[in-house]
Amino acid sequence: MQFFNKNHFYFFKLFAALQIRSSRPSSDEDEDNQYSDASDGNSSDETYSPSESERDSSESERDDEDDDITDDEDVIKDTDFPQIYTKKVTKSSTTKTGKKKKFDRRYDVKHFCPYCKKLVINFCQHISSKQHSTEPEMIQIHNAKKAAGNDTGKCKNQTRLITLFRNKSDNYHNCKVIKKKSGEMIIGRRLTKGPFSIKDYGPCPGCLEWLRLTMLRRHQQNCPSSTNVPLTIGDLMVQSNVISGRIECNPSTKMLAEVYPTMKSDHIGDVAKSDGLIVLLGNQWFIRNIGNPLMRRYYVSAIMRLCARLLIALRKMVIPSTGIRMEDYLVPAYFQHVARAALKVANQDDMDEENLRAPSSALKLSYDIKRLLDIKVGVAIKTGNKQMREEADDFLTLMKIEWSTKLERELLEERKAEKTRPMPLPSDVKTLAAFYKKESEEMDLKNSSYDNFKRAGLIALASLVVYNRHRPGGVQAMK
Ligand SMILES: [Zn+2]
Ligand SMILES: [Zn+2]
Repeated sequence: MQFFNKNHFYFFKLFAALQIRSSRPSSDEDEDNQYSDASDGNSSDETYSPSESERDSSESERDDEDDDITDDEDVIKDTDFPQIYTKKVTKSSTTKTGKKKKFDRRYDVKHFCPYCKKLVINFCQHISSKQHSTEPEMIQIHNAKKAAGNDTGKCKNQTRLITLFRNKSDNYHNCKVIKKKSGEMIIGRRLTKGPFSIKDYGPCPGCLEWLRLTMLRRHQQNCPSSTNVPLTIGDLMVQSNVISGRIECNPSTKMLAEVYPTMKSDHIGDVAKSDGLIVLLGNQWFIRNIGNPLMRRYYVSAIMRLCARLLIALRKMVIPSTGIRMEDYLVPAYFQHVARAALKVANQDDMDEENLRAPSSALKLSYDIKRLLDIKVGVAIKTGNKQMREEADDFLTLMKIEWSTKLERELLEERKAEKTRPMPLPSDVKTLAAFYKKESEEMDLKNSSYDNFKRAGLIALASLVVYNRHRPGGVQAMK
């Protein structure tokens, strides 16, 4: 029976893995593949918007251009990570068809489309196209134009909204490139020559445009973000680094030595180990369980993996992709998503963490979400980020008021669909207990053959689990 279960289990896992590969269009793997597509740089008709002030003119005076830029000469590689590169400003005086151009600059920049999840040319035209016209962000942008009473031309507020949306999407893409240490970085102002080092760049905390860090201060005067508070250059740089995920929240040395080797290094494990808030949560859990040297590594690993699965679920659920880190999702706007993702993760039919199927684990997960939010508040205070702090505080308030009702309602629905599971009959329990008793009494303890030893172990462990049904994990910690 034992062996059958084990084989069955592996078969199931294999099967599940195959299914995931073949049928999930928006899985992380696919998303990553998009990046390699995007970075091969085959481009046709292109428009480049050089800076906010030039943007409008560049679009109206666009030349018919059809250049392919895949040459190494057109990119500048990062000095530390040769897989990271940025496109140079390139010039040509004629179009591909040989026509003379008004300006010799080539408009060939690509931006990230969060709906298609790839780099696209002529961003403004692309997102305004019919295929994306029903996306909430596009409707909002369209409404801004209407509100200005201007149905034909462009209005200032609309341009601003598009800029902010484009920066947010590019920032998402750039953070991913940094994490992968490979791909094209999209920076606000392209360079004409090297050297290029991504260390010198970061997003503006207001509008998320990627700029040279030393330029952040000056940029604040022209920043299109309206929620802009005057900040010192130090604040700006720290906030920028937090946003791009470069302030790493390091695991404690004990975590590295004990928990990380225990944790399975699959996709979930990778996400758990690379997300700042989740790592900090792991540190906290480790300290809290310091008195339990035998089991603490498993507890911490389990909780980190659980949160990583929540994050993975959120990345798939929130469209367009908002961010790759946990803190991006712990904002009031995604409260509903977080609640739904928590339930999904807690009830997932996953063989990996077997005791998560109980509905109460969604409630358990809420304690960890609260703790993640506390950590977010901490990071916000340390970096002086008021907006981040407000977001976390508001989310915590929402959790206090709405979380349990929201979960309860969903759970009730779920239970309705579930078949009633009868309690075991006392007579059955009695029979089982009698069986174990009889078996252990009849066991020939002098027989030291492998089979007999195994049987003795099996009966002893089974009896223990039956005896202490509440904590089946305790058997694991026995010496
Ligand atoms: Zn698109
Ligand atoms: Zn800005």
